Amino acid sequence: MGKVLIFYKYVHIEFPKRAMKWQQQICTDLGLTGRIILGHEGINGTVGGTDESCERYKEIMAKHPLFNDIDFKESAGGADCFSKLQIKIKDEIVHLGLDPVAVSPKDGGQHLTADQVHQLLETHPDDLVVLDTRNDFEWAIGKFTNSVTSDIKNFREFPEYIEKNLDQFKDKQVLMVCTAGIRCERATAVLQQKGVAKKVFQIRGGIHRYVEQFPEGFFRGKNYVFDNRIALKVNDDVLGSCYLCSKPCDDYNNCLNAECNRHFISCKPCEQDYNSTCSDRCRDLVAQRKVHIREKRQPIVHY
Ligand SMILES: [Zn+2]
Ligand SMILES: [Zn+2]
Repeated sequence: MGKVLIFYKYVHIEFPKRAMKWQQQICTDLGLTGRIILGHEGINGTVGGTDESCERYKEIMAKHPLFNDIDFKESAGGADCFSKLQIKIKDEIVHLGLDPVAVSPKDGGQHLTADQVHQLLETHPDDLVVLDTRNDFEWAIGKFTNSVTSDIKNFREFPEYIEKNLDQFKDKQVLMVCTAGIRCERATAVLQQKGVAKKVFQIRGGIHRYVEQFPEGFFRGKNYVFDNRIALKVNDDVLGSCYLCSKPCDDYNNCLNAECNRHFISCKPCEQDYNSTCSDRCRDLVAQRKVHIREKRQPIVHY
């Protein structure tokens, strides 16, 4: 068993291409797989490998002047959590669809530690709103109790969601949450710039850091992740329900019909009844070999 490291840093990178080649070299040498996105605005990565490789990776990063203070979040995993190593350069290290200069983390909400978040949720002032910035398939299996969620399927829909729901945040203290903190860095800036909320907060290290410290706290269920593990179990609560029979369940599957490839929650009996597909139609198409059949590995879904 190895590890998965989730990390990011918003820092000006003058030569992202150079950084990309360097990252390619280290990760290949260490046998790490995963995804790293680099841009002028920083680095966003999730990599998996053996314990030793991950330690070595952190040591190398710690010696680099730009990356020496990165907060690595760790969980059990390994190189097999990803199908390959992908290192890319993009304008935004998380795709929000907004100019990285106009909406920058420096205009983001105040960072709270896990302790501060827990305390805030315990006292829960009347004007507090917990806003989940994640996609619907993520919070469907785990979220903060009484948090506000949206039906967005991709993070780039988030600014429009804010725009349409400004009233909900007027004169409120808004605590925004996401998996490991990166999405909130700019999502909080989007809300802050509207000038309606009384106060905007984000969790340092996101849900990941909060649940490490408070596994039986205000976050219930599973924390969705973007690799083959799909989700990390936080506590025994099951928040989701089977797409096919509606019974409580929080295990994701992808429809075996490659052309459908629906990412959905399905219980074991339904998985058998429907032969790992999402509907009667897909089951029939697969049975009649009228469609391509998906490889039996979980595809990666993006923010
Ligand atoms: Zn079912
Ligand atoms: Zn299907």
